[in-house]
Amino acid sequence: MKKDDCIFCKIANGEIPSNTICEDDEFRVILDNGPATKGHALVLPKEHYADLFEIPEDLAGRALGMAKKAGEKIRAALSADGLNIVQNNGECAGQTVSHFHIHVIPRYRNDGQLIGWKPGSPSAEELAEIRKAVNGEADA
Ligand code: AMP
Ligand code: ZN
Repeated sequence: MKKDDCIFCKIANGEIPSNTICEDDEFRVILDNGPATKGHALVLPKEHYADLFEIPEDLAGRALGMAKKAGEKIRAALSADGLNIVQNNGECAGQTVSHFHIHVIPRYRNDGQLIGWKPGSPSAEELAEIRKAVNGEADA
């Protein structure tokens, strides 16, 4: 299903022009208009799913396949030195457009871009507590 007021639905389905770098029946890959680096692209499904929690697992798998294909094409064409795959879900995680998308971000040595996080330093006990909470394990 498409969503009427969704800009990525319109772009993915060709109703709004975009700089498309590859496309198939299920996805359109476009250049991001606010790129982190030269060649930053977005894999957009043609059907509307808000995020990773909504998109069916098999389609999400094929979206990653499309990201790989696009990443290889971009890397070869622009002589990138590396590549980040980023996928944000929820406003607090940096998602600004509520239509599932995968960022394909070519990296260049010394590109000065920051994509990462500040590592924490949990104790062994804290990690075990989190594991138990996630796995629904009872306390011994
Ligand atoms: P996110 O913050 O993960 O939701 O990513 C949204 C991305 O979409 C950002 O990197 C924006 O620069 C990009 N973006 C938003 N609108 C457009 C558009 N019309 N064409 C291309 N990229 C867009
Ligand atoms: Zn949409």
